[in-house]
Amino acid sequence: MNGARVEFRGLRRRFGSTVALDGLDLTVEPGELIALLGPSGCGKTTALRCLAGFEQPDEGEVLVDGADITRVPANRRDAGMVFQSYSLFPNLNARDNVGFGMRVRKTPAARRHARAQELLELVGLPDVGGRYPHQLSGGQQQRVALARALALEPRVLLLDEPLSALDAKVRVTLREEIRRLQLSLGITTIFVTHDQEEALSMADRVAVLRDGRLEQVADPATLYDRPATPFVAEFVGAMNHLPGLLSGDQVTVLGQTLPVEGPRPAGPEADVLVRPEAVLVVPDGEGEGMVVVSSFRGSTARLRVRLGDGAEVLADVPGHDSARLAPGTAVRVRLVERPVLVSARTATGVTA
Ligand code: ATP
Repeated sequence: MNGARVEFRGLRRRFGSTVALDGLDLTVEPGELIALLGPSGCGKTTALRCLAGFEQPDEGEVLVDGADITRVPANRRDAGMVFQSYSLFPNLNARDNVGFGMRVRKTPAARRHARAQELLELVGLPDVGGRYPHQLSGGQQQRVALARALALEPRVLLLDEPLSALDAKVRVTLREEIRRLQLSLGITTIFVTHDQEEALSMADRVAVLRDGRLEQVADPATLYDRPATPFVAEFVGAMNHLPGLLSGDQVTVLGQTLPVEGPRPAGPEADVLVRPEAVLVVPDGEGEGMVVVSSFRGSTARLRVRLGDGAEVLADVPGHDSARLAPGTAVRVRLVERPVLVSARTATGVTA
């Protein structure tokens, strides 16, 4: 199996007055796993369905390895798809679910069964071939769905929120397994999710969609550390918005002067975006701040600190420090990394 290059070019799709895709441009490289991330309704599923052939764009093209497949019927496209849930045929056992596409293509039964068994082994389920969907857990059903999607050796794998119906632990295990499998097969994969952690942990690159358009596409670290817009910064993790004053290549925020890289607004008044992990909190009887909330998360704790002027800031501190930073503790805060983004001032505050 080798992966195809997929291009979305100027895709537009409208449903009545709703604009689902508003000129989406995106190229997915061969063998790449790209996550389409964005809030509900931003057009992620519609983009995937245009690639699978379940949806026709009003304008624009979908290209696979340079060939325009926009008008090719779904059953003649070289794509395997896994949906959120309940997509297995309930009246077929796991083996026959996996072998379904091969049966449609008239593959002889013996070969079909052998191949289905091979695929079930590949997804870690060597012993469930005879079981029906209702006899499988949610995680097992999604593994079978994955095996079924891979059965016809597609050159593109499309995953539409395949893990969102599963419980947290199974979700994390399956994330890792899907990624490992995808890398070993080298199959170009597009993964739709609204879960930023899922997107960042699995993908080679993450495409953030907003209102049917591409807001930014980048590898996970760049997206997190160098978001191009406040929308992206906001969407991929908790963020502090602090009022700052710009002067040349520097910004003054919370009494500290920090370097600014990348784009910046024109005026001196700026909205300075700082991640909670960039905020150092030190107990200090003389400090102007006070811890008002502490949420212990194990390895870290997230503190909400009220500052002298009434503003609040979120700070992630090591979990073992949370006892000495209990609510009511007087503290001072320091920014220990440069801001991820400095933009024009709108509203300030925190977004968890
Ligand atoms: P979600 O995460 O909620 O699935 P999404 O980003 O996948 O959202 P889409 O499912 O692509 O978004 O939908 C984009 C917009 O188009 C939404 O406003 C949706 O209601 C609308 N839409 C999608 N499909 C149809 C349809 N068949 N008929 C009418 N409206 C539709």
